[in-house]
Amino acid sequence: MTRRFQNFINGRCIPPNSNDWIDSVNPATGEVWAQIARGNVVDVRLAVESAKRASEQHDWRYNPTYRSKILHDIADRLDREHQKLIEIEINDNGKRVREVKAQMSGLGDWYRHFAVASAQMEVENLNLNLDGVSAYLDLIPYGVVGAITAWNSPLMIAAWKVAPALAGGNAVVIKPSEFASASTVFFAELLSDTVPDGLINVVTGYGDEVGTAIIESDEVKKVSFTGSEIGGSRVATTAAKHVKPVTLELGGKSPQIVFRDADLENAINGIMSGIFLSNGQSCVAGSRLIIHDEIKHSFVGRLKEKLEQLQFGDPLSEDTDIGPIANKPQFDKVLSMIDRAKQEGVKIIAGGSKKVVSGFEGGFFVEPTILENVSSSNEIWRHEVFGPVLCVRGFSTDDEAVSLANDTDYGLAAGIWSVDEKFANKIAAKIDAGTVYINHYRSVNVCAPVGGVKKSGYGRELGPNAIRDFMQEKAIWLGEAAMPDPFG
Ligand code: NDP
Repeated sequence: MTRRFQNFINGRCIPPNSNDWIDSVNPATGEVWAQIARGNVVDVRLAVESAKRASEQHDWRYNPTYRSKILHDIADRLDREHQKLIEIEINDNGKRVREVKAQMSGLGDWYRHFAVASAQMEVENLNLNLDGVSAYLDLIPYGVVGAITAWNSPLMIAAWKVAPALAGGNAVVIKPSEFASASTVFFAELLSDTVPDGLINVVTGYGDEVGTAIIESDEVKKVSFTGSEIGGSRVATTAAKHVKPVTLELGGKSPQIVFRDADLENAINGIMSGIFLSNGQSCVAGSRLIIHDEIKHSFVGRLKEKLEQLQFGDPLSEDTDIGPIANKPQFDKVLSMIDRAKQEGVKIIAGGSKKVVSGFEGGFFVEPTILENVSSSNEIWRHEVFGPVLCVRGFSTDDEAVSLANDTDYGLAAGIWSVDEKFANKIAAKIDAGTVYINHYRSVNVCAPVGGVKKSGYGRELGPNAIRDFMQEKAIWLGEAAMPDPFG
């Protein structure tokens, strides 16, 4: 019988109110490997009620030391048992085992960081510069927070929301993507005897059913969303109707600029990692290569040679370099965008088609693709593919490089490759993006904020203000002298 993943509410697994299930397809085989609950507004109501009760517990709401202990326990548990999550995640979204192992083995660290940060939170005195009165800043939890996540790295994305939200004294209701929900449900189940009931709830299902119900719930006071620009815009519209704050972590069309003086071997590794390592299914995918005309031809030739050496195959195998695209709609989207690019006259330098992999004929494999003759009006230059597709354009002046880099509605990340650090920093200052990497690409760290400008969203995750993003500021004023008679 097909394995079923139920909702996780108030510390236990619960079948969906609808009694309806959604097939989860293994993208390497194209076959159903599990089913997830099709949640609805009733399941969301239960989850929110349970989260509300948990968030109101005195110790949880007012005691950062207690919260710190629970977060440490979560981190320790994940350190010991993260292996159990690896295969589930791969069955769900086809990510390569080497990548998933690295993500899962580091999962506990996200929680540990916020365990420490929670214990270190201090009252901040406000410098009013007034006689007879002082003030301090109190930070109060929202209570119940909604976390809506994408399918590419479900547990890492969830950690960036759940860990700081818990550290700030909230309880969460998570809605993972319908295409990759199983690992999030299993994660909550795994922690069921570590985390007090109700602090972490998971309701699976469709965005317009479960996601909307979470955002519309009066008791959910804040929503943190990771997903597409279209999804984010809808979420923000619904949230606005309810006067509810949202953090939006959306897509990108991130440029990588390679200058003539770059260490080319280093740059090649950075470009390959940026766009082909996760099949381009990374929010910071470096999907636009902007390279000096004098080195463009040879650089692209070397990229092509590298691509020819990559091994397609089973994402569960350590030898595999390229696994499948994570789900059928995304597979279709990538191929249709490549097709439309061809029709618009864009030149295919490498790849450009689906790939049939022996033993995995039903899988959603796409050849890593390099495109030239791209212009600013081409859809493939303007819109996020979220697939292994690299657009290449040349430049001759520094100003042209900057203008091409900023020639996008998005602004999530960018890469700059030049051995002249001072020059690279000057260019970095001119790039519209939430993150700029110089002679490096794609790393994330709990201390560095993640987020975008323009249509890549607003608000930040991680970084120094991560917990504060899940708390509200309250100014407490203390009168230290008698109030004067106002009419005296
Ligand atoms: P989607 O926007 O399609 O979905 C994201 C999540 O939102 C899913 O759980 C989805 O549910 C839900 N959702 C969709 N519409 C609504 C709605 N109207 N109301 C409430 N919830 C809704 O994005 P994808 O899952 O396709 O993820 C890929 C995108 O995520 C890419 O654009 C990528 O760049 C971005 N991303 C951004 C990151 C960042 O940090 N900036 C990190 C990772 C990815 P459903 O199950 O129905 O799909």
